[in-house]
Amino acid sequence: MLVVKKFGGTSVADKERIMNVAKRCIRDYQSGNDVVVVLSAMGKQTDVLIDLAKDINPKPPKRAMDMLLTTGEQTSVALMEMAMAALGVPAVSLNGFQVAMHTTSAYGNARLKRIDTERIRHELDQRKIVIVTGFQGVNKYDDYTTLGRGGSDTTAVALAAALHADACEIYTDVEGVYTADPRYVKNARKLKEITYDEMLDLATLGAGVLHNRSVELAKKYGVQLVVRSSLSEAEGTVVKEDVKVERMLVSGVAADKNVTRVSLVGIKDEPGMAFRVFDALAKENINVDMILQSIGREGTKDITFTVPRDMTDETLKAIDKVKDSLKIQDVTTNTAVSKVSVVGAGMMSNPGVAAKMFECLYNSHININMISTSEIRVTVLINEADTEKAMNAVHDMFELED
Ligand code: ADP
Ligand code: ASP
Ligand code: MG
Repeated sequence: MLVVKKFGGTSVADKERIMNVAKRCIRDYQSGNDVVVVLSAMGKQTDVLIDLAKDINPKPPKRAMDMLLTTGEQTSVALMEMAMAALGVPAVSLNGFQVAMHTTSAYGNARLKRIDTERIRHELDQRKIVIVTGFQGVNKYDDYTTLGRGGSDTTAVALAAALHADACEIYTDVEGVYTADPRYVKNARKLKEITYDEMLDLATLGAGVLHNRSVELAKKYGVQLVVRSSLSEAEGTVVKEDVKVERMLVSGVAADKNVTRVSLVGIKDEPGMAFRVFDALAKENINVDMILQSIGREGTKDITFTVPRDMTDETLKAIDKVKDSLKIQDVTTNTAVSKVSVVGAGMMSNPGVAAKMFECLYNSHININMISTSEIRVTVLINEADTEKAMNAVHDMFELED
């Protein structure tokens, strides 16, 4: 069997944890499996490197940023090779360049395009454990790139797909995927199974336990994932196409604080305005999420939308370029907002989930700013200060607790 095992930052945060991971991988190796290990940077090392960079230059060149951030993962894999060698097991550490993991050229947010598997195969054939850096790759200029925060999950799934692995295990600091972030929702419960679609929505809407592109890739290539703890033997959560367990109406609650609400007031009420606004944003690679357009009155209308909070400056710059030609009277922003979502495939056949969620928020005196829905989710925009209160109230209302 070929197994891909990915360990996140907290799982390799110090010497003890590194030795623990080494032993876990060796156990698998000694039972006869081919083992490929994907590692994140130790603990909060990526944040430490970002702070270092920003201290020198608040707007560091993106290429240099990736040059810096890739050192985090390179440190972990080198130390892991040393740990395994100390335990007497042959291992080899490889970075994104050595593998090679080919990506698009977008520094800081690259996408994996192709993975060369020859080197890894060769090392596995020599009966070595192969330890690969997560989160990084190389672009057509032979420069290092990174896949966006949390991207090591995506490295693991892409490797599992490229190597036709028999299993892909994501080890983290919680025992699996929960009905909500257990850090904030005390009654959150571990799920036995969850579908790709539900997991993709949860991950995209703020459940940081998996990088959303990793779930996208897993679905595309049919890679079954197991999310479990690196510190316990507890069974984790299986992420797959179909689940057997009886479907709950709602399978999870997620929250995202990386949100800014932008309102364009007094735009001319004529065809093409929305197109020109959102085209200007798309050209700058700004991801617009919730969109609300008011009914026109006296020849003008308002458009309100949300963007990632870390893209607020870029958004305002892009809007500024079209402000005069679209005769936008005023632009306002609110950065003290958050999105809270409920996700569940069971919603498709059960109307009333949205109403139940709104009633619950009303009972908790939480005001709703904006609403958006899909077949399997309902999202509300609320004041950031109410986030945890809303998550807990909505979670318990849908009886997701034990
Ligand atoms: P790693 O470093 O292992 O990749 P992350 O911090 O990226 O770990 O992801 C694990 C964290 O995700 C957990 O500590 C937990 O607080 C958070 N989390 C958010 N939503 C969920 C959820 N629905 N289920 C489990 N964990 C979640
Ligand atoms: N080290 C990277 C980060 O902190 C990638 C990862 O952990 O998945 O975002
Ligand atoms: Mg992660």
